[in-house]
Amino acid sequence: MQYCCPKCQSPKIMPVAQTGQPAPRPVVPKSLVFLIPAIFILLLLVLISVSMWIFGDGAGQNLQIATVIVFSICVVAGILFWRDLPDFKISMQSFMQSQKKWKCRECDHEWEI
Ligand SMILES: [Zn+2]
Repeated sequence: MQYCCPKCQSPKIMPVAQTGQPAPRPVVPKSLVFLIPAIFILLLLVLISVSMWIFGDGAGQNLQIATVIVFSICVVAGILFWRDLPDFKISMQSFMQSQKKWKCRECDHEWEI
């Protein structure tokens, strides 16, 4: 089982939907669905706060409260994702194994396992 292109050895491969079969998808845990946007919002809020500290007279109280709330959401989602991680790994592994057709994004080479 290889997870890179047999032609150019690139790891940039993507699954190809098998004809007549619905494309198998790994089960993405809900915590991950929350975690990723929460981290993006947190980064955005931190950036706004930092730029307000540099260019203004400090971040506003509302902004500080919002940052603390989003940070707490990140922590909770992070803990939940940590607990979901073993299941997610198994789901990803079975997805990788059930997927027979792959395509390389570097050289457009297609192959079957
Ligand atoms: Zn390739």
